[in-house]
Amino acid sequence: MPYESILRFLTEYDGEKTTIMEICGSHTAAIEHNGIRSLLSPAIRLVSGPGCPVCVTVSAYIDRLIELSKRPENVIVTFGDLIRVPGSGASLSDAAALGADVRMVYSPMDILTLAKKEPDRVFIFAAVGFETTAPVYARLVELSEEDGQKNVRLLTSLKTMPEVVDILCSSGGEIDGFLAPGHVCAVSGYRIFEPLAEKYNRPFVAAGFEGNEIMAALYALVRLKGRGVVRNLYPRVVTAEGNTSAIGAVSRIFEKGDASWRGLGRIASSGLYLRKEYERFDAGSRGLDRDRVAEGCRCAFVLQGKETSTACPLFGKNCTPSSPKGACMVSGEGSCFNAFQNSQNGLDGGFRP
Ligand code: SF4
Repeated sequence: MPYESILRFLTEYDGEKTTIMEICGSHTAAIEHNGIRSLLSPAIRLVSGPGCPVCVTVSAYIDRLIELSKRPENVIVTFGDLIRVPGSGASLSDAAALGADVRMVYSPMDILTLAKKEPDRVFIFAAVGFETTAPVYARLVELSEEDGQKNVRLLTSLKTMPEVVDILCSSGGEIDGFLAPGHVCAVSGYRIFEPLAEKYNRPFVAAGFEGNEIMAALYALVRLKGRGVVRNLYPRVVTAEGNTSAIGAVSRIFEKGDASWRGLGRIASSGLYLRKEYERFDAGSRGLDRDRVAEGCRCAFVLQGKETSTACPLFGKNCTPSSPKGACMVSGEGSCFNAFQNSQNGLDGGFRP
């Protein structure tokens, strides 16, 4: 269908109120950057989901990183976002200011070079992510094993999507359809959402990250409302079965286990942990359940699509990207971060191809 027809349909739609959740943080960022919300009819509501890995990391995980950073032999290796996420009292950035050795990298594989250069130190990677990044960490463990690298560890907070989406559907929310995460589907295959689509009679549409791809997926979701089907509108990247070699690597190195999500609690079988035969690479990733958030922070509701970021009393006042009180204000994929950026930039003009 021509883009103009899709745009007209989504702008002029006056049918039943329809709520669509974009599960993935990259979709949240793309929706905000393209001003897509402003193009939609008031009868179509977009809500953000729990698909930003930094946003759903519990305070106990950050606290554990800080505890590890206090040992003189340890070096914490991480991506930029995680360093500013508040734990129960402080962030990794605060620990670095007090002298902890915290290093930022662009690829998890960089830890291998660092570890070889300083064999007397222990390098711990803050391995946070979903199905998308788990294969990279699996490969990192395989390479460390092959190289006989003894000073590499992972502190994992790896989560999987279907279990949390199951919780969102079963908790009686008003979500009529899901923009399925394109990156997760690329690895795991879009079939992972078929059981949920059938169980809850809701459509899932796998989509790319360009503005016109998201608009096409929203059009499909509105038209498919009430039908338990999965559609793939990202065929150049996503297949039914996914990347079988990446799936194989993950299952060789990791096993499923319960995991705690910020604001959502402990969800059965929603985590990935190093298998027993690889536990020498683990920096103590299991049992990190405690989740303390700042007073007044509404991240738990934002992550479930029950409230918008701007409804939080701290938004833009006590909580900003330069002084975040909750994880959703830290990451470039966080819905509070994106809502704040748009409120500052007046970027609400709407996407045109
Ligand atoms: Fe949490 Fe800040 Fe978002 Fe409020 S604005 S929900 S405190 S991250």
